[in-house]
Amino acid sequence: MSKTQDRERFVVAPHSRPAFARYARLHEDRVRDRFVVLAPERAYEIDAISLAVIGLIDGESTVAQIASRLAARYGAPEDVVARDVTALLQGLADKCLLRDGPDSFTPPPLSTLATSYAPFAAGPAGLLAELTHRCPLQCPYCSNPLELERPNVELTAKEWGETFRAAAAIGAMQLHLSGGEPTLRRDLEEILGYAVEAGLYSNLVTSAVMLTRERLEALAKIGLDHVQVSIQDVIPQSADYISAFEGGVAKKRDVAIWTREFGMGLTINAPMHRQNIDHLPKIIDFAVEVGAQRIEVAHIQYYAWAEKNRAALIPTREKFMESVKVVDEAKARLKGVLNFDFVIHDHYATLPKTCTGGWGRSIVVVTPSGKALPCHAAQTLPGLVFDDVRKRDLGDIWRNGSAFNAFRGGDWMKEPCRSCERREIDLGGCRCQAMAVTGDAAATDPACHLSPDHARFAALAATEAHAAPPPFVYRRMSGAGKETV
Ligand code: SF4
Ligand code: SF4
Repeated sequence: MSKTQDRERFVVAPHSRPAFARYARLHEDRVRDRFVVLAPERAYEIDAISLAVIGLIDGESTVAQIASRLAARYGAPEDVVARDVTALLQGLADKCLLRDGPDSFTPPPLSTLATSYAPFAAGPAGLLAELTHRCPLQCPYCSNPLELERPNVELTAKEWGETFRAAAAIGAMQLHLSGGEPTLRRDLEEILGYAVEAGLYSNLVTSAVMLTRERLEALAKIGLDHVQVSIQDVIPQSADYISAFEGGVAKKRDVAIWTREFGMGLTINAPMHRQNIDHLPKIIDFAVEVGAQRIEVAHIQYYAWAEKNRAALIPTREKFMESVKVVDEAKARLKGVLNFDFVIHDHYATLPKTCTGGWGRSIVVVTPSGKALPCHAAQTLPGLVFDDVRKRDLGDIWRNGSAFNAFRGGDWMKEPCRSCERREIDLGGCRCQAMAVTGDAAATDPACHLSPDHARFAALAATEAHAAPPPFVYRRMSGAGKETV
């Protein structure tokens, strides 16, 4: 595929020959009794009619032929079927999941391990595996805990393999191989092999600075589906300052381009803050230039390292509003070329986010030493006990673990959440943010305008964002004691 073709929207026409890109595929989700299309960081539910269409896309049949076959099968008017088929396929194409003609890459096999785990059938959709906390970068907003885990406590590749099988068996479909920097694991290839065996859709979340072309190609051959390259900025001097690492931008550009060359999905992950927010248009251009299908523009949440550095990172409301405009304009301009995930700034919100899809509802995080967490910042909450996947079955932890049940459902809620009509929608927001700001993990997320702490929360942003930024407290194995200008 030429670079130009890669960057154009695929407009589905009667003569098109649609096929899934290597990084998207149909999957039978037996735990939830449904079919989904697995894609970068997403699982799109497919109804029976869509399933009939998708079963016929093979990169050889034209849209007109597919419509004709379906019209004959169901005794329906061909023009009506053609219109519906085109609309469905255009929707998938605009999510960057289809290509015109077959993909030369063969996708990895699907899981045969997922079984219903009654009576708690709603298993996690995803597993975030923090393979190591080691990282050559020192981002001041890193979501890892202040007390980073040492290499000598890390799970072995075999132990990760057992964890992956256990996760797939209770319904996990997506696996995020994360860190720290996961490529620092010399046995990453073996670990990925276990993920492919378990049939998980694999996503490598990486700073990319340690990857070589040869290693990335080897990972693609083992069956890696998707790479998420995190960037600090695209202006080299600024990126070097934010990450305390020299020369990262050029390396990330290479890795991103190789990722597409090897047929894998690519997301650019761009955490947003006051020290890079002015470069957002250039960051979006970078994502297009390297061939990404997705970009995450995520305003930072302030806990762990980010909380330490809040005054250095928090943008003004005006800058935040500008970023909303930039993303809205780019979304319209780049429809079908680049998909956006935009995480808004909590201090300038009036309603909270449904954090991690709800506590103990959609994701399980496992730390390098094997602690199972309901969200990656859960260790900032006092009094919770986190089970070890080496000592207790993951399904049992998910279903019965005390930390997973601490904020499930709504019994833990206080007013105003307890009697609020949105309690089933946002589930009271983020527990870690509530703890960081109010000192009470069961309080209403202060991002909510109904929280008694909301005004103080918003005022704090206004004060800090207008003052000169202090020096960063860089993320270090040795903890948060040292400051660097
Ligand atoms: S946020 Fe930065 S320091 Fe933290 S793991 Fe990612 S690249 Fe490393
Ligand atoms: S009061 Fe609670 S449930 Fe209602 S909108 Fe605010 S955070 Fe959500």
